[in-house]
Amino acid sequence: MLGEDTLRIAVKVAIRTSATPRFQARRVRWLGFLLGCSAVCGPAAHAAWFERTEDGIMGTRIAVDLWADNNALADQALDRVFSEMRRIDQSMSTYKPDSEVSRVNATAAQAPVVISAELFDLLTTAVEYSRITGGAFDITYASVGFMYDFRGRIKPTDKAIAAALPTVNYRFLELDKARRTIHFARPGVRIDLGGIAKGHAVDRGIAILQQLKIEHASVTAGGDTRIIGDRRGAPWVVGIRHPDDKGKVIARIPLVDTAISTSGDYERYFDENGVRYHHIIDPASGHSASKVRSATILAATATRTDGLSKTAFVLGAEKAIEIYDRLGDVDAILVTPEGKVLYTKGLEAP
Ligand code: ADP
Ligand code: MG
Repeated sequence: MLGEDTLRIAVKVAIRTSATPRFQARRVRWLGFLLGCSAVCGPAAHAAWFERTEDGIMGTRIAVDLWADNNALADQALDRVFSEMRRIDQSMSTYKPDSEVSRVNATAAQAPVVISAELFDLLTTAVEYSRITGGAFDITYASVGFMYDFRGRIKPTDKAIAAALPTVNYRFLELDKARRTIHFARPGVRIDLGGIAKGHAVDRGIAILQQLKIEHASVTAGGDTRIIGDRRGAPWVVGIRHPDDKGKVIARIPLVDTAISTSGDYERYFDENGVRYHHIIDPASGHSASKVRSATILAATATRTDGLSKTAFVLGAEKAIEIYDRLGDVDAILVTPEGKVLYTKGLEAP
């Protein structure tokens, strides 16, 4: 049950992901307030930790922590990472009518649309995750998903879901690599990258920091984080929150050089007549997918951990763990509706 496996899991993850005896972890949303320093930590002409947090980009909180030799380098690095996040938000948001993804949604059913290499590659990766997960991850969930508004407590009627459901299928996405186009095979198809774009943005942020030769950093967008280097000897610990109590942590995971994503049914939701309507949608039914309460995925990149963190909600813990174990490079910690904590083989006690 919740809480009992905490230490064992934490220790195993640390052992598995730590190439050196040094441990690193990153500060996560629900632990954020525990760390003292907010915004950039005072003027420093010498090496120091720097942090910047901003709400609102990609509809979520972006947080970057890094170690830099001086203020100027830190400012440059933070500015570049945040403007990259804004650029990706501008091109991939379905909330922005002039985004590239909105243009695709508006026109790709009529004729193939030429898109940027970046979007083409991410769509290709999204389709790969659909194949890996047997369609549990499917960016065309949006053909139904666009009718939900969790903040406004709005959900589609069963009739509306039934009418739109035949347009949910990643196989309707026709990607032509030579022409770099996307075409929707059916009218009514919509895509939404809310389940993978943040991971991509985090990886882009990390790439920028690596170009600037920053060796110790953590970049977070919503539930998606990637860390590089260690925290200079200090153990950073990633917390996985209790699904029903954001003040409670069910596992603490020391990490180094890895990505980690957590999805939960407590992120964007409303409850009505004892049913939880939340933002992860089962592509087969058009309803919220509730076979786990939370899923935390570990892998090398945040695109991968983000893309794979929805699977268990749709398929259930056992089937999802089978997939993660088969992939070999992915680990997971899942909380079931009964409050059991399950994890992949890589995290089992020796
Ligand atoms: P966060 O936005 O905090 O990173 P998640 O990684 O859990 O949260 O992603 C949730 C988002 O994934 C939803 O808001 C929605 O945009 C998208 N999504 C929901 N269901 C699916 C699905 N079956 N396949 C792909 N994406 C999905
Ligand atoms: Mg995510």
